[in-house]
Amino acid sequence: MEIVTRFAPSPTGYIHIGNVRSAIYPYLLARQNHGKMILRIEDTDRERYVEGATELIEDTLEWLGLNWDEGPIVGGPNAPYFQSERKEIYHAWARKLIESGRAYADPTPPEKVNQYREECNKKKIPFLYRNFRPDTTTEWEPGMPLRFKAEPKDYEWVDEVMGEMHTGPEVLDDIILIKKDGFPTYNFAHIVDDYEMGVTHVMRGVEYLSSTPNYLAIYEALEIPRPKLVSLPHILAPQGNKKLGKRDGAKSVTEYREDGVLAEAMLNYLACLGWNDGTEQEIYSKEELIERFSLSRIQNSGARYDETKLLWLNGQWLRKIFNEQGPRALYERTLGFWPKAAEAYSEDYRIKVLSIIYDRLKTLSDLREMTGYFFADPTINTEMLLNNKFLKKNSKSEIEEMLKVVISRLNKIDDWTSEKLQDALNELLEQTGKKPAELFSLIRISLSFAPFSPALNLTLGVLGRETSLARLNAVARAI
Ligand code: GLU
Repeated sequence: MEIVTRFAPSPTGYIHIGNVRSAIYPYLLARQNHGKMILRIEDTDRERYVEGATELIEDTLEWLGLNWDEGPIVGGPNAPYFQSERKEIYHAWARKLIESGRAYADPTPPEKVNQYREECNKKKIPFLYRNFRPDTTTEWEPGMPLRFKAEPKDYEWVDEVMGEMHTGPEVLDDIILIKKDGFPTYNFAHIVDDYEMGVTHVMRGVEYLSSTPNYLAIYEALEIPRPKLVSLPHILAPQGNKKLGKRDGAKSVTEYREDGVLAEAMLNYLACLGWNDGTEQEIYSKEELIERFSLSRIQNSGARYDETKLLWLNGQWLRKIFNEQGPRALYERTLGFWPKAAEAYSEDYRIKVLSIIYDRLKTLSDLREMTGYFFADPTINTEMLLNNKFLKKNSKSEIEEMLKVVISRLNKIDDWTSEKLQDALNELLEQTGKKPAELFSLIRISLSFAPFSPALNLTLGVLGRETSLARLNAVARAI
């Protein structure tokens, strides 16, 4: 049997961490089994629909390398893949339920439904619409909600992650299948589509678990087989006490991407958020994930979101790409993340800068803050220099004197290489009798006026003789 999975997002604009994870697992399962992954856009909730959101979803999946075999752009035998374009299909299935007496047009006005709900709330009993099912119903016509006629009974099923499930009749209700606007509800549409599209594994957030008995009832009433059901655990806030929400510090996937989190790191992090292969391994490429993934190792308890871990992984991936694919490969990933002033410099120069700084980056956008002084002379800030914790015991003239010694020694270097520069720096330590922290802070700050720079000989090497000496001289004059 060919494995067919699907990712079925709603185009509501914002792509949170959990949405993307719901795409990763179906992708991995399909690829591992040489099956198929379908992308289906669930856009029947017209009130929540956001223009451009579908493109954002497609673009995000492409960025992560999660290609789909059927769906928007690529097409396929089950087109259309937008639910809003499949109305007739849902209506045809709905008619089947009407004919078999398992669905009814509901003329009850919404105010009346609310009144029933309030009555139950007052009496502190659960609100089940089937207890208020109208005695007489009219012929169903568009503009009138169509409801399922539930038959209260027990259900037992196996969820691939949550295990054996059992529910009683109290969870079954006359849920709406087709809304007043003629569009189906999620509850109905996904069942029809999963069946029509041949989906074998429905993988989605565990929030749908409580509605599953109602879905099982619909499968039965439609006389169609149910697919395997796979509930993915909640992603919890960093404190672990509740579901991750917008306010818990997690950015949208788009924001992380714009910050310069690499697709590899994002994929790696999210795949391991709620799944592990039982080893201590932390870095996984997409290929390794495809190989190692298994449904049985998806955890059934919530997975705690940890941004620090994501950024750590990003750092690991930056190094991995640099070391395995080379500086140019990493450079190509940095386009758009450099400070504006860098545009005037050659690629070769930027690659040199990247090569000495990449292992300090958390995200690519750190380049903007961390590399400015490689592309423009920094503003001299004598306060920063004089108040530096290693330098503050020196008077201005002592600082000036130290700078002069440094300049004179560096001037003598014939070959401006990082090795020769390191030799010169070592000699300067001996010559001045200063501690490395003191002497090197002086040089580092004078060159960059930044809180951080890579190893001094490397920084000097990349900046070049002329720029380095000009900056040291300028500081000596300004002191
Ligand atoms: N459209 C639903 C959502 O975005 C998908 C749930 C499912 O995968 O079935 O939450």
